[in-house]
Amino acid sequence: MAMRRSGMGALIGRRVKVLITTERMTQSGPGLAAVIESARDGRALSEVDAQALAGAGVSDLPELCAAAAESRDKVKGRKVTFSPKVFIPLTRLCRDFCGYCTFRQDPTQAANLFMTPEEILGVARAGQDLGCTEALFTLGERPEQRYPEAKAWLVDRGYDSTLGYLADMCRLVVEETSMTPHANPGTMSRREMAALRPFNPSMGLMLESTSPRLYGPGGPHESAPSKRPRVRLRTLEIAGELEVPFTTGILVGIGETRLESIDALLAIRGLHQRFGHVQEVIIQNFLAKPDTMMAGVAAPSSDEFRWTVASARLILGADMNLQVPPNLNAGDYQVYLDAGINDWGGVSPLTIDYVNPEAPWPGLRELRDRSAEMGFELKPRLPVYPEFLGFGADHLSTGLRQTLSSLIDDDGYVTGGIGRYAGTRNGNHPG
Ligand code: SF4
Repeated sequence: MAMRRSGMGALIGRRVKVLITTERMTQSGPGLAAVIESARDGRALSEVDAQALAGAGVSDLPELCAAAAESRDKVKGRKVTFSPKVFIPLTRLCRDFCGYCTFRQDPTQAANLFMTPEEILGVARAGQDLGCTEALFTLGERPEQRYPEAKAWLVDRGYDSTLGYLADMCRLVVEETSMTPHANPGTMSRREMAALRPFNPSMGLMLESTSPRLYGPGGPHESAPSKRPRVRLRTLEIAGELEVPFTTGILVGIGETRLESIDALLAIRGLHQRFGHVQEVIIQNFLAKPDTMMAGVAAPSSDEFRWTVASARLILGADMNLQVPPNLNAGDYQVYLDAGINDWGGVSPLTIDYVNPEAPWPGLRELRDRSAEMGFELKPRLPVYPEFLGFGADHLSTGLRQTLSSLIDDDGYVTGGIGRYAGTRNGNHPG
């Protein structure tokens, strides 16, 4: 990675600059006002209408955001959700190399190749004590395919793959705690996802982008076979076939064009129209990290990111749950409520965001207050959204179904609401 860093950063930097000058600052395209107007009622846009959104200029943003917020209000109302979670980085080893990633480690860097069952239960129980309900398993992609020591670690314990070990650890958390796993392990085959399904009421995989340019020479995904759009779209399709409530999303600012973002959102929408399984779409902004190939690339501007968020709402429709991570937008995350979102994603009072360790979660008191200032009530949810609790529920283990029932109120949100966290020992909590 280090050898190619400067060349890669320079190439992507040039690409981003070209995009800004040729596409992102365009004036209103023909028909844009009509497209925005027709989206206000919450109906999803046609493909052609969606593409017209790429022509929006800065002066169109207020109208675009207002239409997105109006669409959201029609179905979601004025509540915004979050999932109280702990982050369990099962392994940071990964067979891939992405140009922006500081999560991955090789065996010489990693303190442990994999978290042990005892470590996993320790984190899950500590989160349970703080009122958390989600055990987020995020991990590198199939490290046993690159590192013999990873393969040996797994074989010594009776597993033939990282995903086999993950399934067993999800089962352990379900059996030993009242936490609900949400596996986010990268691409999955049908067999692998089916093995995870009884112990995961929902799972996730970021689509990130459908642009073929990003895995071409010099692109951020050149050395990451699992980031080929075809492979990731197939995982999303398998989730639909297996009736798994699924979280996905796009990454904004890694060299994609506006039209490519729209293409990715349309691909997600198309899969959801086929299977009805996409419970949530994350709009995640790229942040440059030191010592990565993209260290010198500018993050998307707040205006550009608001364009993406509002466009996503208008393309995906009023029913979709739309999330922006608040810790990646610490200065102004509340403005995205005015661009149509209705969720803040997982927020942890215990563990850091291992993917973005430089970006601390907001405290729940702050999250509650900033949401309230914008006119929104903050509500905790499970990793599976209330309207998806019944989707594929027959595939869940009996124990997990009992846990889910014990955690929710009549509306499917976490029992006790935000008041559940009042007076906890962690200063992050509203008291
Ligand atoms: S982003 Fe994921 S797939 Fe890419 S290098 Fe990091 S851990 Fe591996």
